[in-house]
Parts: sequence; C-alpha cells; structure tokens
Amino acid sequence: MNRTSTPIDTDYLVVGAGTTGLAFADTLLAHSGAHITLVDTRGKPGGHWNDAYPFVTLHQPSAFYGVNSLALGSGRKDNAGLNAGLYELATGAEICAYFDRVLQHTLLPSGRVGWHPMCRVHEGGPEGPRIENLLTGAVQKVHVRRKIVDARYLSPVIPATHKPRFEVEPGVRLVAPNALPRLAQGAAASGAPLPRHFVVIGAGKTAMDTALWLLGAGVPQQAITWVKPRDAWLVNRITTQPAPEFFFDAIGSQADQMAAIGAATSLDDLYLRLEACGALLRVDTGRMPTMFHLATVSTAEVAALRTLPNVVRLGHLLHLAPGRMQLADGVADVPADAIFIDCTASAVAPRPLQPIFQDGGADVSGAPGRIVLQLVRLPQPAFSAAAIAYIEAHDEAYPDTAAKNAMCATVPFPHTMAGYPRSVAVGMQNQARWGQDKALRQWMRDSRLDGFGRLMSQVAPDDSAKLAVLARYKAGAMAAMANLPRLMAAAEG
Ligand SMILES: Cc1cc2nc3c(=O)[nH]c(=O)nc-3n(C[C@H](O)[C@H](O)[C@H](O)COP(=O)(O)OP(=O)(O)OC[C@H]3O[C@@H](n4cnc5c(N)ncnc54)[C@H](O)[C@@H]3O)c2cc1C
Repeated sequence: MNRTSTPIDTDYLVVGAGTTGLAFADTLLAHSGAHITLVDTRGKPGGHWNDAYPFVTLHQPSAFYGVNSLALGSGRKDNAGLNAGLYELATGAEICAYFDRVLQHTLLPSGRVGWHPMCRVHEGGPEGPRIENLLTGAVQKVHVRRKIVDARYLSPVIPATHKPRFEVEPGVRLVAPNALPRLAQGAAASGAPLPRHFVVIGAGKTAMDTALWLLGAGVPQQAITWVKPRDAWLVNRITTQPAPEFFFDAIGSQADQMAAIGAATSLDDLYLRLEACGALLRVDTGRMPTMFHLATVSTAEVAALRTLPNVVRLGHLLHLAPGRMQLADGVADVPADAIFIDCTASAVAPRPLQPIFQDGGADVSGAPGRIVLQLVRLPQPAFSAAAIAYIEAHDEAYPDTAAKNAMCATVPFPHTMAGYPRSVAVGMQNQARWGQDKALRQWMRDSRLDGFGRLMSQVAPDDSAKLAVLARYKAGAMAAMANLPRLMAAAEG
C-alpha cells in the first residue's frame, strides 16, 4: 500500500459485492436514506459467480434468488433437459449479467452507492478501515458513520480458485471443470490429443454437475469414473418450486417434513423419513449417506447419475499419478491418458458462528459496529441478507443490537449430519418471531426472495385441499418443535 487519497464518508461499508452484499445493499437502499460504499477485490459484481465453471447453474429456482428489487430470469419453466417441468435455473453468466444490471440500473443511479471494484478493504490498525485499489496501490481511509458489513462469511470455495489437497505427479492431466468446454480449443492449440476417459473427483454438487455435463456432451457412461469418497442426501428440487401449481409438492412437502421431524426417533430415522416422504433423494439407495449440504437436484438428474457404472469408493484421494490413484483405502487404476477433473473444492467450508449484529467500540477508538451476513433461513443466503438489511433499516422497531439479534439468530449450516436438527430448530425459532411482527411479515410476503410466504398467504378461504395442507403444516411444526430438542440431544450427544 503506498499512495493515499481523499477519505470516503459513508454510512455503511459493505465488504464484498457477491449475492449477499448486493442483496443487503438493495434492501437497505430501499428502506433507508443511508449512503453505502460497496467494495470488491473482483472487477465486477457477482462474487464467486464470476469464476464459476461455464456450465454452472443455480440449483434452486431463479425465482427467489438475487436481490429483492429485480426479478431474475423470465419466470419460465424448462421444457427440455434434466430440469424439464420445473422452474428455470439461471446460469452463472446470467447471474453475472443480472448483478451488473442491479448495480448499473438500481444501486448507482440512486446516487447513494459508491462502487469500488478491484479494491480490498483492510480493517486492522489504528487508522480504521481503508480501501486499497489493487491496480494503482492508492489507499483511501473510510469514515464509517454506522456499520461495516462483512459480506464474505458465506463465500464459497470454488474449483477455479481452490488448491487440491492431494498430491499430483508431473504428467498428470488435472483440470478444474472450467476447462472442460474448452478442451477442443486447447487441444487444437497445443496439439495434445483429446482425452477419451474422464475421472470426476468429488462427491458434491460440482462433481454431479460435471458428470451430468459429460453425459450431456455424449461421453459414454463407461468413459467416466466417479471418485466418490462419500454419499450425500440431496434435496428433491420439486419441493423448492415457488408457484401455485406446485403448492402440494412444495408446501405439502414442508408439512411432510415437519411431520417427519416430529416423529423421528433418531438421526438415521429422520433422514429415512425425509426420503420416504420424497423430500430427500440419494443416488445409491443401498448406501446410507454421511453428508447433507442441501445440494438440490431433480429426479431426472439422480436417474442419470445412477447410470454411471464406474464409481470408486476408496475414501479420499491422496496421490495422483498418470493412470493411478492412491486413495485412503486403496489404489484404483484408470486409462493412462485419462483426464482428472478436480471437483473437491468445498462450497461450504465451516466457519465459526458469530452474532449477526455486533456493537462497535464504546472506547475512544469509536470503531463502527459490524454486521456479519450469515443465514437466518436455511439455505437462503439472498433472502437472509435482505431480511438482515430490513431489520437494520428499522431502528424504530429494533432500536439496538440486542433487539436486532433477537430477530436474526444465526442459523448454522449443517456441516455434519448431526447438525441438521439444530439448523432446523434455529430457523423455526426465527420464523416464529417473524410471524409475530406484522410489518416484517408483510415485507416478507411481498418479497420475491421469500419463496413460499406468498404461496402460503394466498390460499383462498374456500380451498379446502390447500387449507388442509396448511393445517397439517401447523400441526407438524408443533410436533417438530417438541421433538427437535430430543433429536439434537441424540445427534450432538
Ligand atoms: C455452484 C453454486 C450454486 C449455488 N446455487 C444456489 C442456489 O440455487 N440458491 C441459493 O440460494 N444459493 C446458491 N448458492 C449459494 C449462494 O448463492 C452464494 O453463492 C453464497 O451465499 C455466497 O455469496 P456471497 O456473496 O456471500 O459470497 P461471494 O460470491 O464469494 O462474494 C464475496 C465477495 O467478497 C469479496 N471480498 C473478499 N474479501 C474482500 C476484501 N477484503 N475486500 C473486498 N472484497 C472482498 C470477494 O472477492 C467476493 O467477490 C450456490 C453456490 C454455488 C457455489
């Protein structure tokens, strides 16, 4: 850091212009007269989506992703492919273009948002927060009148920016999924032959996306090896559809899930009940999964993944040599010219939970307060960031840090199987508090980011079938609340 320039005066310094930073800024702008300074080390808004693999899409519908003030996508259902019949899933490129529009058409024209791309926020030290321009080295002090907003907490590790934890011998062809669509161009430029065998390393959603992309590109099942250290429970995408024609799939499933949580006698029993009611899926029904990161898939995607015959289940990969993999529980050979695709980046690396609203220094340092954007509803980062902004903007209703945190308990991401009951319990407690707050409840109902609120509130008083589902949901929720402490005690034991 070298040159310094004029200090910036602002109400909120938002560190990170990914989904959470933008969803927060958008709602804060709509509900306050605050000035916001938005900073990102990347050159464009959209965070990790800027570096995502070209065939990435959302795994839940576009309809409730992004910022509150602007719809994402065309509101259509897919009529071809593995998501046919379900609402569209924005691609990474669509999400980046969308966030660019949010910045150019909503945030900047307000005259209350300062945008600092290619800049890093530094917070330590007696001088307080500073913004370093990564291209010029210039540093600007920032005088923050209200709060620093940390919009990095939920930032995922992605294939393009991740370093594999296994050893790789020289001569091994190891790529990120990002390289696959460009293989032909790469081979033409280098003269290297195109691969004829593909080894997908990893058990999560990126690995599934990659295997499905290879199948879609015509690669025969036999030419794919899937290195799968563990199995995952997956959310059935039909249960996430936020539209009236899916009421019984979506809200009906919520009622079923509550009943399953209310009746479960153990953790395994809980997951099996959630599978039995169609909420969860697994690729291999003969194996009990040991991971649940809320990856969301269609039944057609699961069916396609089940056709893969070469699945290596020898634990985590330790060492790669051309044509040979040393894994924790043994060795597996593949064709010598196979290409390996690293899908081992963990999108949901564990981080310690913090209160969302934090007081600043009451001492002479006068350090501003902080907001650390985390989940208040699982697994909804965009909705969570917007809801936190709404609470922050309404000082008259939530006058201090304690009152704000009382509305926004941090929902822990279930990094282990045992963590899920606690995530559900905290999420339900938040929902119960929100339900008692008329103005907040109305904001949520009107919010495009709340997938199901409007669906539930729009049931006609004479629609007995839907009313029966709502009654079942209410009874199930009470049973679930009663049983969750038992499940948590058994799980966390
Ligand atoms: C493949 C994939 C699919 C997903 N699908 C869905 C879905 O369907 N529905 C859903 O709700 N969620 C989905 N998610 C999760 C979610 O959308 C977000 O990706 C997640 O919450 C992270 O967003 P973020 O803004 O917190 O982080 P990021 O996108 O990582 O943004 C954080 C930004 O902060 C910047 N930054 C970091 N440090 C500094 C600093 N010191 N100064 C300045 N800038 C800094 C980084 O450069 C980055 O751009 C998906 C995630 C992945 C990986």
